[in-house]
Order: sequence, then structure tokens, then C-alpha cells
Amino acid sequence: MSDFTEQQKQYLAGFAVGSGLTQSLPRSTFAATLGLSAADMPNGGKAPHGDGSPVPAEQICYTAQDLQLAAGKKLTTEEKAKRTRFPLDQWDDIKAHAARAEPAKGTDILAFKYFGIFWVAPAQTSYMARLRFPAGIVQSYQLRGLADLADQYGGGFNDVTTRANLQIREIKPESTALFLEALADLGVVAKGSGADNIRNVTASALAGIDPDELYDTRQMARDMHHTILNHRELYGLPRKFNISFDGGGRIAALEDTNDIGFSAVKMKGGVEGGGEIQFRLTLGGITGHKDFARDNGVSLKPEDCVAAAVAIVKAFILHGDRTDRKKARLKYVLDRMGFDGFIAEVEKQYGKPFPRVALDQTEPRPAVHKHGHVGVHGQSQPGKSYIGVVLPVARMTSSQMRTISDLAERYGSRHVRLTVWQNLIIPDVANDHVSAVVAEIQRIGLAVDSSSVRAGLVACTGNAGCKFANANTKKHALIAADYLEQQLPDLDAAVNIHFTGCPNSCAQHFIGDIGLLGTKVTVGEDMVEGYHLFVGGGYGADQAIGRELKRNIVADDVPHVIESLLRGYLAERT
Ligand code: SF4
Repeated sequence: MSDFTEQQKQYLAGFAVGSGLTQSLPRSTFAATLGLSAADMPNGGKAPHGDGSPVPAEQICYTAQDLQLAAGKKLTTEEKAKRTRFPLDQWDDIKAHAARAEPAKGTDILAFKYFGIFWVAPAQTSYMARLRFPAGIVQSYQLRGLADLADQYGGGFNDVTTRANLQIREIKPESTALFLEALADLGVVAKGSGADNIRNVTASALAGIDPDELYDTRQMARDMHHTILNHRELYGLPRKFNISFDGGGRIAALEDTNDIGFSAVKMKGGVEGGGEIQFRLTLGGITGHKDFARDNGVSLKPEDCVAAAVAIVKAFILHGDRTDRKKARLKYVLDRMGFDGFIAEVEKQYGKPFPRVALDQTEPRPAVHKHGHVGVHGQSQPGKSYIGVVLPVARMTSSQMRTISDLAERYGSRHVRLTVWQNLIIPDVANDHVSAVVAEIQRIGLAVDSSSVRAGLVACTGNAGCKFANANTKKHALIAADYLEQQLPDLDAAVNIHFTGCPNSCAQHFIGDIGLLGTKVTVGEDMVEGYHLFVGGGYGADQAIGRELKRNIVADDVPHVIESLLRGYLAERT
């Protein structure tokens, strides 16, 4: 209990007398101690503890709040709202709002995000829905069904996100409940895709088909996904949380940008467990705050990773800051408690110490192929190829989705893989059929042999759909790609360019070779859209936070600035 005050320890001691993570103190008594009314307490005070009534799974969230209140701190508005009513219990509110065609207001905006719907005004007067696909795997019937839903309830398109996920925009307030019901009919889950939850679980996009991979991470991501869905207490976090599984293959999963990153490694010959595949545990990645997940010596067998992740999340629930949302992510718990202190708390949840293995006892990770997510490549299955399709700044129309779905059914294995690079892959195409599939992809206006620039182009939603954005990132990214392809047709290096609209860094500008962060620039008496420019970011073996090179570039000038940078690079590289 190294991070708790004496008062908190006493409270937790009382709490621990009960069973597992339940508390033994009467809730009403504890409320009075804190100067709160029963109505301020979980479940509106209806199920006080100590009276024999069942303890809700989400009690761990309220216990964490109680600990911070006991330390004399004030909960944020969002935490108070969770205390009044657990957000997952607001389905009837969604239906009532839809019946009245009313948008969410106040803290209901946060609560509705627990169901995967985001009110995005003032950028748009509509909802955006974010879904969940563990390891980015979407069945072809789901892709086709989502195209239909995008036509019926949304704007007629889907966007691929940097968590290998899909978003549907422009859903009207009156359509939310019907949309979510239709989503469930398709077997697609949106629960917990937003707000203070564990986001879509990512894994290596080529898991199971990658000739270079060390471990097929599909089932790990799937197991993590279903564990989250079936444990209500895992919806009691103080802030959002990301988990990723990297199988050591040719496409990076960007696990080092996650709160928890698991990375497959091979034990060196001659050491204990030589030749075995284990997963290094890394913690605290949040590149928007300039931190990658760090290795702390813990190495786990594949079958132990999900249980370890659950223990980490529970320790985060108990120790995360609920009084300042800017300091609520795992990174700040680690900064405060230190890695060893936090891991000690995690091990209490895990029930035993984590095994440790020195990094020098493992083989280096196989190299990544920077743009291996685009184009035609052989698989580990002889005679089969995967085809990486470039989606212009992550968007595909419903008509394109139907064609891709048809292609996956006719020539592939009835599914596609979404990637953290905001594109998609059609796997398992017989080599004899590749040219037919490529021709069809080109016919619908998409590409597989993209220029170096377009293959590594990442852009967040921007001000066309996000209220935080300072610039129209998707539009500016496309303009830059068009211009650079014309000016630098012979660019032969894989370059990743990330456009992000605000410091939330959804497009991870700090890890791009070139990163652009949206801002407002003063021109005469006007404020116009512009960017700060960063260079030299990377991930994995090239891990680096990009450094700021130039500030306040007017958006119209960005393509020219990137062009001169790339020309300089081509002239000077060794
Ligand atoms: Fe919105 Fe900012 Fe995220 Fe872009 S980075 S989608 S502007 S929150």
C-alpha cells in the first residue's frame, strides 16, 4: 500500500475485511464521515454495504474514489457523475433521448460514450459511433452490414482509426438506440469504446499469416476483449486505457504507444527456457505526453498475459488520479509511484510475483517492414498473399466497403484486417487471384501500390468532425499527399507523415518521421489554420519522440515545407 496515506490504509484495511474487493464499512457511515449524503454515494445510497446486499462489481471504482476523498481531495465532475449513477446503467437514457430526438448534454455526453456514441457538437450536430474489433479483425458480413448502417443512420462512410477500429459519423440524435440495436444484430460491440474505458484491443495486423512473426496474437486480443466485456469492474477506470499485443512480425502493432504493451520475444539459446516465446511487459505509453511504454523486466508466458493485464487495470483503477483528468492516465501513476511501487500493487491483484527476465537473455525483435501494411505480400501459407489497401486518410464509402466485403468472400477468407496505420488488409488471397483483386480495388478508386508518402499518411478526424481540432487534418493531409506525389515522384524511402489536430494526439504526431500538430496561426488580423512541425519520431527499434522544427506554419504552406524537408533528406542521406 505504498502510495496510500495512513487514513487510506485504515480504510482499505476495513475494506479488505470483506470478501475480495468489497468493503466492510457501512456505506452510509462512510458517507457521513466524508460529509456526503447517501444520495452522493454509489447506487444513490440504495445498497449500503454491510447490510448483506450484493456488492456491485463496479465497487472498486467507488472505493478508489473514497480513498481520494478520504485524503481530502475533490473528485472531478466526471467522477461525481459516475458516483451518482454508473454510466453503463444509462441505456434507458439513450432511448429516452432518442425518442425526443435530443442530444446528450452535460455529463450524459461522457456516459453515452460508454455505449460507444459520441456527441461531437459543435464540429457536427450529430453522433459519431466508435466500435470494437479485437486485433482489428472484421468479418465480411459485418463490413457489409456496417456499410448498410452507415447509409441508413450515418453519413454513408466509415473511417478506420489508429486503434485498428471503425467509426461511423453523422448519426442523428433520434437514431442512436436503433443504430446500437442494429449493431448488436451484426455481432458488433461498441461498449466501452470511448470515455474512461479500455479501448479497442489491438494486435499485430498480420497475426497468423506473417512469415516473420514469433507468435499469433489473435486469440490473446480476443480473450482480452471478451474479458473486458464480461467484467463490469473493468469499466471503472479513471481515464482511458490502451492495450496491445505485438507478435514480433513484419508490421508494427505500435504496442510501445499503449498503456500496456505486450511484445513477443524469443529466449536466447543457452538460457533457461531457450527458444521459448515469451511476452515482455511494457507500461505507460502515451506519446501525446511524450512517453513510450517502458520495459521493467517482466516477462510472461503467453497464457498469463490477459490475467496480468487485468491485474494491472485493477491496480490502475485503485491508484489512478480521480481529481485531475490531465493527470489521470497510467503514466502519471507510474511517475508518482515508480515502476517498482506500482508493480508491487499489481502483483497483489495478480496473486503472485511476476517472473523477471533480463533483456539480454532474449533475441532482438525481428525487423519491421515500415510500409508492409500496403501492397501485395506473400504469407506464411504457401501460395497465398495478403493485399494491403490504402484508404485515403482512412475513409471508405459504403459502396467501397461492400466491394471489399465481396472480395474477401470470393477470394479471401471472409474477413479483413484493420491496421493502426488506418488502412485495411485482405488476407488469404490465392496468388493466382491477386491481379483480379487488385484490379477490382483500383476500379473502386482505392490503391494498393501507393506512393511512399500516401502509404504512411495518418490523419486524425480534424475539425470536420472533432470539436478539439485546430485544423482540417484530413483535408490538409490529402492536399499534401497530392502535391508531394507530383513534386517527388521518385521518392523511394518509406516516410510516415502524421497530421493531428490538437495535443490529444490521436494521430500520434510525435512518432511520425514528420509530425504536424494543428494550431491557429495569426495572419494579419485573422487567425487561420496551421501546424507546428516535428521531425525524427519513430517507434519500436527506432523509438523516438519527434522534435519540434518549425512553429506556426500556415496550412497552405505545409506541403511546400514538407517538400523542402524531403528534398533535403534525399540530397543529404547517407
Ligand atoms: Fe480531435 Fe484532437 Fe483527437 Fe484530432 S487529435 S481527433 S482534433 S481530439
